[in-house]
Amino acid sequence: MPGILFINGTIVNEGLVYGGGVFVEGDTIADVWASFDPDAEALEKKYRDLASEVVDLTGLHIAPGLIDEHVHFREPGATHKGCIESESAAAVLGGVTSYMDMPNNNPPAVSEAALLSKEAVAARGSYANYAFYIGATSTNLCQIVGVDTRRVCGVKVFMGSSTGNLLVDDKASLHRIFAESKIPVAVHCEDNGIIAGNLEGFKEVYAYDIPFEAHPFIRSREACIASSSLAIELARETGAHLHITHLSTAEEVDMVAAAKKAGVKVTAETCVQYLYFDDSAYAEFGPLVKCNPAIKRASDRRALLDAVRSGVIDTIATDHAPHLLEEKQTDYLHSPSGIPLVQFSLLMMLDLVAEGKMKLTSVFECAAHALARIWKVKSRGFVRKGYKADLVVFDMKAPSAPSVASRCGWSPVEKFYSSVVHTVVNGTFAVRDGKLCAGRPKVCALEFER
Ligand SMILES: [Zn+2]
Repeated sequence: MPGILFINGTIVNEGLVYGGGVFVEGDTIADVWASFDPDAEALEKKYRDLASEVVDLTGLHIAPGLIDEHVHFREPGATHKGCIESESAAAVLGGVTSYMDMPNNNPPAVSEAALLSKEAVAARGSYANYAFYIGATSTNLCQIVGVDTRRVCGVKVFMGSSTGNLLVDDKASLHRIFAESKIPVAVHCEDNGIIAGNLEGFKEVYAYDIPFEAHPFIRSREACIASSSLAIELARETGAHLHITHLSTAEEVDMVAAAKKAGVKVTAETCVQYLYFDDSAYAEFGPLVKCNPAIKRASDRRALLDAVRSGVIDTIATDHAPHLLEEKQTDYLHSPSGIPLVQFSLLMMLDLVAEGKMKLTSVFECAAHALARIWKVKSRGFVRKGYKADLVVFDMKAPSAPSVASRCGWSPVEKFYSSVVHTVVNGTFAVRDGKLCAGRPKVCALEFER
């Protein structure tokens, strides 16, 4: 079996940062050790003899590959914006080794047959390991209840409108979905009625010339708070595992903290754009930072960063949502919401680390370990003996400006303090020295131990 020996690197894993080595055999992490272990030298010697390749990581960090639980890869239905192959290539270039793709496709992934067809596409063309959400509609409860809980990551409920047609906002349907789903319920929380009212008000004032700075007042904090509060209430009533996606306000952080304290089964995601930007970005980037929920105030950004530190926020994802530049660069009403970030989430978080806003260990807690724990992902998300060899190697001293691999070809952020050096998926290099490797790695559907 081919073996890769990584030596002289700095391992970032499970809250610790230490010098050490990793030996990968086939698709599995065969051993991990710290350089201060008494037998470190002996292990390195033993694995040197077994290894087909020795990779010297002097000056570099090695950590678990990221699991991005929230991406929109656009296939099927909008492959001019991105497809599973193009966007998963962008993912591995950014150190993301597994992803969980959202169901608002055309046709939407709301049935077993639609999920199987997405899995077949991923098995043929993906560069990273994959899982798919089933979307909730007001009428597909039997499909949700019948899913293979070891294969389908979660049910996605759009409690506010978003791209696609999966809005469920009558309380009776929501209650049934929460009560009967055997897998976590991931919810997009924005109240549609509040947003529609705000939009009408802005249209009256600006007609078609609404400034992008209005986005957080149209898709307002009140819309987020009302919807998150309903979702938490439903979780409390039904005992469902609620996972609130892309938290964007300080108030929702407080609500999640209180609900957790009261024993409600709730976990929370934020996305890297809410940690990296605040509403000052609208003046500079306009449509390029228009996403749903909207990026809000500097005080929200600080509250979200605090919540990452304190553990109130469990996970950090991207909500990777590519649109072509010509689709984005139009007036407010026609510019679609979404930012393509799967390639740059690690680099953006490492920038936050460099600026002292985030701890290095939190990056991997929120973008790898917690994902594995919350979704019960089998054998991934940690640098542990016996786990699958999904790894990222990065250089925190080498600034980078990587070309955008996403089909849409643009990103609001293009320069970073750090660089991604290697990405290993199931024991195979997917990215080496910052470049996509010629052969696609062998990829797997994620398995959930439920
Ligand atoms: Zn999304």
